Parts: sequence; structure tokens; C-alpha cells
Amino acid sequence: MFKKFYPDFRVNSIKDLDADFFKENNIHFAVLDIDNTLVSYKTARADKMAREFLDMLSENGIKYAFVSNNHKSRVELFSKDFNAPFVSHALKPFAVGVRRAMSKMGAKKTKTVLIGDQVFTDVYAGKRAGIKTVMVNPIEAKETPFFGFKRYFERIVLKNHKG
Ligand SMILES: [Mg+2]
Repeated sequence: MFKKFYPDFRVNSIKDLDADFFKENNIHFAVLDIDNTLVSYKTARADKMAREFLDMLSENGIKYAFVSNNHKSRVELFSKDFNAPFVSHALKPFAVGVRRAMSKMGAKKTKTVLIGDQVFTDVYAGKRAGIKTVMVNPIEAKETPFFGFKRYFERIVLKNHKG
């Protein structure tokens, strides 16, 4: 019943995704959430961890695009250090932003993964776009009641999912 929310892979952080992961799963394109996936939502530019991850992708010939529900100025500022397309106001959990990013990269569904920290926006959007999904643990939880509420339902969904 919750199948559309199940990520294909779960890892603690982008640090756990190495070149072998992409090779073994035949992934050549990555659709990347920014906030709490690559950097804390409080961090404007890529830090060491994000930079190392994005460099690793490039070194291995993996194209990537940033797809964020955040506003243009945030996403544009983050993206400008990298030679990669971005989609802001992406409207996840709808697939439209993910699809737009994929077309900017010339990505094939079967060779594309979405990497994000939220079940009901990122994973669901990736599933709707028909691509593989990786869920990471959020770098820093936003301390708002609504965020805690969503996490509660995420736990219920993920508890039912083994693997
Ligand atoms: Mg996020």
C-alpha cells in the first residue's frame, strides 16, 4: 500500500554512495535534492562533503542536476559552482521538475536515480517519474512542528518496508 513511497536504496548520507554504487546499478544520471541531502538547509554553497560527492560523480562520468522545491535564488546560488542544470520550485512530489531536469541532462529513465531526504516529496516524485530512488537521512532536521509531523508518518511508512 505504501509501495510508491519506498526508496530503492537507503543510506545514511551521500558519503555512502561511491563510484561502485553507480557502476553496479548502471546509473549514469543523478537528480539531486539540495536541502538536507547535499547540505544543511542553512548552508548556501556546497561544503566539503557535497563538493567531494559531486566531484566523484563528474570523475565517473555521471551527469547530475539539482532539483529543489526551494526558491530560485537559493537553488541558483548553490548551483553556480557547478556545471550542472537546476530546477527550482520543482513541485515535488509531482514528477514535473524531475522530468524537466532529466530532459536537460538527456537522461534515460532506466539509468537515472533521484537522491533525496524525504519520502513524501523526493522519493514519491522519483517514483512518479519512473526512476530509481535513494533516500538519505536528513543532514539537519528542521525544528518545526510540521516537519516533525511528516517524519512521524515517514517512520510509519518505512517501518513497513524491509530493505
Ligand atoms: Mg530535502
